[in-house]
Amino acid sequence: MAREHDILKLPAPKEPPYRTSRRIGIHTSSAGGVENSAERAWRLGCSTFQIFSSSPRQWKPTVITPAQCAAMQRLRAKYDLKPLVIHSNYLINMAAVTPQFYAASIRSFRGEVERGLALRADYLVLRPGSFRGASRADGLARTAMAIEQATEGLDLQGGGLTILIENSAGAEYSLGGSFDQVAALVEVLKTHIPVQACIDTCHTHVSGHDIVSEEGYEATLKELDTAVGLKNVPVWHCNDAKAACGSRLDRHQHIGKGTIGLEPFRRLLNDPRVAHAAFIAETPIDEPGDDTRNVEALKSLVEQSAPAQRKQRSRNQDGG
Ligand SMILES: [Zn+2]
Repeated sequence: MAREHDILKLPAPKEPPYRTSRRIGIHTSSAGGVENSAERAWRLGCSTFQIFSSSPRQWKPTVITPAQCAAMQRLRAKYDLKPLVIHSNYLINMAAVTPQFYAASIRSFRGEVERGLALRADYLVLRPGSFRGASRADGLARTAMAIEQATEGLDLQGGGLTILIENSAGAEYSLGGSFDQVAALVEVLKTHIPVQACIDTCHTHVSGHDIVSEEGYEATLKELDTAVGLKNVPVWHCNDAKAACGSRLDRHQHIGKGTIGLEPFRRLLNDPRVAHAAFIAETPIDEPGDDTRNVEALKSLVEQSAPAQRKQRSRNQDGG
């Protein structure tokens, strides 16, 4: 018999999962209704989480009802889950050269923003598009035009929704393969929308930055700070990598089990310069419980203050 994959179908935890001084979470399934993701995230031990608000590989959008939005808000307040991050559809390419594809991307992204506002999400992650068939400058201009069209008449500022441009694995024609390119996108888009950046550790590593050695980590953070500003990175995607540094291969691995390893995550999670950020895993689920284990792997790296450790210990003893 297959073991259960869905934490919602297992008994609820008797004790609330412990918290760390950093907001840590994981991309969580919305199966059975988007509001279920909040319950799942809490049971997985998260204090923040990421979802798809619609199927990530289909143009046809999911309809979310006001009752679902209300349930989501209730659960997020009950479990203190913040920020809520939405990852936008993988099909979207705001720099697309084909008119049909460009139009479909704009329509789809408008849906992402509308659902983000309805769900009171804090962040909407957008992967930079590909400018294949045009120049980089043209790709940037098309993206800005597309964003302007897609968000026309929508009040992102008022709704507290910020778009996050994610750094890419560095594939050819990608608009976000370096921190400078992410910064250029943020710069171009900020006249239209509230926009910041989301940095993915796997993408950073495979696009050629050394985050594994201590000096490399320092140099990478310095480069990011100069280009984008660390304060403009409210979300980090914490993924280990299956491929080597510089390989440009975007294959996520379990925390500590890949070519990055545990230490860089420990450094990042305890770095006071990024203490304001949320840290969200997008790791694979190869075995039931991999999601719980990856959240736990990240949480276990956060160095706790002495009182928090004492509280944790006494609770563990109470719980037997
Ligand atoms: Zn990512």
